[in-house]
Amino acid sequence: MSFNSMFNARLEEQKQQGLFRERVCVEQNHQGIVSTQSGHFLDFASNDYLGLRHHSDVLQGWVEGLELYGSGSGASPLVTGYMKAHQDLEQQVAKSLKREAALLFSSGFAANQALCRALFHGKDGASGNLFCDKLMHASFIDGALASSASFKRFKHNDLNHLESLLQRKNNDLPTLVATESIFSMDGDAPDINAMAELSQKYDSWLMLDAAHSLGVLSIEDHPSQQNAPIIMGTFGKALGTCGAFIAGSETLISFLINFARDYIYSTAMPPAQAHATLVSWNIMLAEERTRELHRKIAYFKAKATKANIAIQPSDSAIQWIKIGSPTRTIALSQTLKQFGLWVGAMREPTVPKGTDRLRITLRADHSEKDIDALIDGICIANSQIEQTSQECEHGTDS
Ligand SMILES: *Cc1c(COP(=O)(O)O)cnc(C)c1O
Repeated sequence: MSFNSMFNARLEEQKQQGLFRERVCVEQNHQGIVSTQSGHFLDFASNDYLGLRHHSDVLQGWVEGLELYGSGSGASPLVTGYMKAHQDLEQQVAKSLKREAALLFSSGFAANQALCRALFHGKDGASGNLFCDKLMHASFIDGALASSASFKRFKHNDLNHLESLLQRKNNDLPTLVATESIFSMDGDAPDINAMAELSQKYDSWLMLDAAHSLGVLSIEDHPSQQNAPIIMGTFGKALGTCGAFIAGSETLISFLINFARDYIYSTAMPPAQAHATLVSWNIMLAEERTRELHRKIAYFKAKATKANIAIQPSDSAIQWIKIGSPTRTIALSQTLKQFGLWVGAMREPTVPKGTDRLRITLRADHSEKDIDALIDGICIANSQIEQTSQECEHGTDS
């Protein structure tokens, strides 16, 4: 079989199942409005929860960084690519999260890959035990699968299931338990303190992926190094730039510098990006925008409940409505687009089968009017889709 016939067959199958994916080119995304060739939309799909992407101080940080360091780092970090801007950001991340040290990566995807494969390395049988939540991000799952750990997933946020796995682990090998401090698709959270205790009881380390909790939870609500010896976070979400970090003990970071191949063999992130991200990080630390975000979350939840929209339990910026079929999810999101509203349409395999959903991300810079428009739009789209599916059913009956 040729590649082209394989491509065509697989793509056709995706289309049949309502799972075909396409990108939309965004011309501008400013002041909460996404502009494309087909129109302007209120943005309820981006992850910059604090609305910092266009903050003038962050933009100024880029400009200063460009002036100081040029447009790129010029090399991998172990050659000449590790610069003062990287060091400053690492030190501030470590200090804010009460860790000894931090290490920067070009993306969260790379950080999770690097971590799994550096911690669990070796060809002769399992090199460790790795347990992670079933709903963990693809970047972690893929890293875990590519590692040499004995890898098992526990049921979402289920401490009893985790404990039953911990009881059966190989005690001669090191053990990592991994979860997200806020889940990317569900917006919910595990009981981190209980999970930390359980991990300690079984002589294991807890690792947290904080991609969606930075800037959303207070920095003080992120656990200490003792409770979660490894914390990973990304700058592409609330911080509004790009890149990621892993923070922990000096020894952990030194180990990663020596063994994390994604770190060693990749050009360091542009120092200007690190410089701008530090500005963004410091704005996040003031937490004024975090408090504003929570006012918007509370406003959305109250309005949605009043309008009988069945939102799933979440206190975070990620709110979702279960639709349960990929085609219906797409139909709803397209109707919303016609109303000028852009929400995430999440389908399997990004989310488990049967939980296809509209995913709404709220930001500190949404206005109450934006949220009112969204609620109205969802109600109307729902009743329109209801009507057409009834007409279709009626059509087949007669
Ligand atoms: C976005 C995300 C990542 C990947 O981070 P990038 O910097 O976008 O590569 C990892 N983990 C979680 C939970 C995420 O949401």
